[in-house]
Amino acid sequence: MSAATSPVEVRHLIGGEWTGSAEAERRNPARSDELVANLAVGTASDVEAALSAATDAFRAWRNTAPPARGAILGRAAELLASRSAEVSQALCAEEGKTLAEATGEVTRATDILRFHAGEGWRLKGETIPSSVPGTSIYTVKEPLGVVALITPWNFPIAIPTWKLAPALVAGNCVVMKPAAITPLSVQLLAECLLEAGLPAGVLNIVNGSGSVVGEALVHDPRVAAISFTGSTDVGMRINEIGSARLARVQLEMGGKNALVVLDDADPDIAAGVAAAGGWALTGQACTATSRVICTPGIHDAFVEALAAKASDFAPGDGQEAGVNMGPVVSESQLETDKNYIAIGRDEGAELVTGGAVASGQLFEPTIFAGVTASMRIASEEIFGPVISVLAVDDLDAAIGLANDSNYGLTGGIVTNDLRAAMRFADEAEVGVVKINRPTTGVDLNAPFGGIKRSSSDTFREQGSVAVDFYTRLKSVYIGV
Ligand code: NAP
Ligand code: MG
Repeated sequence: MSAATSPVEVRHLIGGEWTGSAEAERRNPARSDELVANLAVGTASDVEAALSAATDAFRAWRNTAPPARGAILGRAAELLASRSAEVSQALCAEEGKTLAEATGEVTRATDILRFHAGEGWRLKGETIPSSVPGTSIYTVKEPLGVVALITPWNFPIAIPTWKLAPALVAGNCVVMKPAAITPLSVQLLAECLLEAGLPAGVLNIVNGSGSVVGEALVHDPRVAAISFTGSTDVGMRINEIGSARLARVQLEMGGKNALVVLDDADPDIAAGVAAAGGWALTGQACTATSRVICTPGIHDAFVEALAAKASDFAPGDGQEAGVNMGPVVSESQLETDKNYIAIGRDEGAELVTGGAVASGQLFEPTIFAGVTASMRIASEEIFGPVISVLAVDDLDAAIGLANDSNYGLTGGIVTNDLRAAMRFADEAEVGVVKINRPTTGVDLNAPFGGIKRSSSDTFREQGSVAVDFYTRLKSVYIGV
């Protein structure tokens, strides 16, 4: 076991200064005696100060050449890469995911910064022929102004980075509210950006609760756009408030992602895909596999193969070698997981394996079989390592059941039947389709987002299109 490091002071970043004093604590979810960070807790006046700093910094930042803005992201990427071991350790300690998962996430953040550094060279408009002789028309992508970024705890550095990088390269100033329980990774990212030359006030961070800091941001008329990732309930509320004053709102929310397994699949391969999607990251991914829909010829063999994989996912301290599933992030999420086990049992589902707390906040990888569409465990997001298996007669029924959800984030199919796979890709009501791959895990250069109650379904995140949310098109006519 690696030694506990001394706690870090996590503060607000306002106008280039670190402010606030410690008022709350974050403990390692795998080791309740390890204090990871002392946290400043923001108030409405901190939000006020951050918004005025961002507003003041906007003109100079938008007038900075886009490649120069990108160059700062590029330098920050190299600084983050050079601190990868330290940042991964901090992420592992504050969120609980395994060191391998945390290291992968920090590498992801580094690559996102590198990718968007290059976007500084590519913020292109177009020329359009005019109906009037001697007139030219061209478009420019303008930044929106001050944008608010509100993020969840499950990817403490990747999600903030995939919002920050396109926002900044496009010339916006940012006020960010990280998840209250995992703000340390964002502070370390911000240190890299400041050291890379990001001017004071361009990025501001206010830590604290959604009900105080988040609400203040969402209501403020100086905030031109809000990009939010989190639960559907909170997202719907933010949308109501932001849209009412015509702020641009981007929401990435919950999921109830289905994986269809067809008769022709190899049960062991299918179980591997389901286990990686459902249990890695402790099931705490918006893209996690939470429903597996099996056709009759493979159902029993699949359940048996999946149950056999559960021992590979014994939960433990994510900093210890060989552990590949960390603890549940918080006591309240643990209560949610336990509650859904009780709900599943009461609904008459068969608990095949797991369903219990191993110790502390360690929760066993869980399989429910005999789940039917009307059960709550088949329709509500749990956000824990719980896979519900549902049986159907054929591909038609599988697609129908996969689409029978209020959510529509990711969906997968395991099959070697190309025709079936392509039909699923065509008909799945989701934003991301995975054929023979886990429903989790996305490439940073491909558009990401969902439909239905998973997403505002307007602008996608990630890839080159990410910048669209953070820019507006202006059409300029020139007569000579
Ligand atoms: P959450 O409870 O909705 O919180 C997300 C963020 O919103 C946090 O920073 C939170 O602050 C803040 N917030 C809470 N109430 C607010 C309000 N009234 N106004 C403004 N901000 C407010 O979500 P979570 O528990 O952190 O994360 C889990 C959820 O995120 C799951 O539903 C998951 O599916 C979703 N998620 C979606 C994606 C995606 O891309 N679709 C990716 C990852 C996670 P606090 O820190 O005080 O709670
Ligand atoms: Mg929450």
